[in-house]
Amino acid sequence: MSQFEEAKYLEIYITIEDYIDKVHYQKIFCPECKIAPIHIVRKQKIPPYFASNRKEEHHQDCQHYEEFIPNKNLVRLINSNQIEDQKRLEFLIRSNLKASLRLLLGNEKGNNFNTNFLENNSSTNTEKKGNTDRYKKESIPRVHIKNLRKKEELLDNHIIIYGKAELEIKNHERTNKQTKEKFTVKQLIFRREGKFVFSISLSGYKANNLSQENGNISFAVFGELKKNSSFLNIKSHTLRICRFVSDFRS
Ligand SMILES: [Zn+2]
Repeated sequence: MSQFEEAKYLEIYITIEDYIDKVHYQKIFCPECKIAPIHIVRKQKIPPYFASNRKEEHHQDCQHYEEFIPNKNLVRLINSNQIEDQKRLEFLIRSNLKASLRLLLGNEKGNNFNTNFLENNSSTNTEKKGNTDRYKKESIPRVHIKNLRKKEELLDNHIIIYGKAELEIKNHERTNKQTKEKFTVKQLIFRREGKFVFSISLSGYKANNLSQENGNISFAVFGELKKNSSFLNIKSHTLRICRFVSDFRS
């Protein structure tokens, strides 16, 4: 059973503190897919929380529709040299990134997935049509960018961050200490309402292949959430950006 810190009520999101039986009873829904009914659970000795009933009530793209894959299993796949493990990882990342973007853009017109894909490895492209059904679908924990600062318990976990952000790309010149060769690190800074939320640093192949410009974006990124002094960053594994400028409000 999934637990939720917030619930969707009409057009707004409420927290446990906002909840009033007379107003919200049977009228609150999953904050991510907005279709699964959720309810308040009150037990002795633990603070009340929101919970949903059955997984099947969520939208198929909602992270709460499938079982979650434990972080240690993801790490095992990432570190594995086995082709079969790499294919499975590729499938999980792609299917979860796509689902995030569908949820994000699903209600909007002109849903044109004009995406930039950045893979960890230039030669890996294991997604083949008709080949993906044999993998069990599992959810990678996913956080909307607006909630990221509240989710510090996810530090050092592999997660997906998705949402709409203002992207700024900064180029930093660096020198390799041993070879003295110069190289460029691209720092992608994700902001909301002008405030820094997190960043991604790319170098080498990934930096060279980034054909993204500054501006408002819809995005989903998979990687390991890290903290450097007080700044959150993602050790990027796979990044997917949809440029979506026509409607940028929420
Ligand atoms: Zn849901």
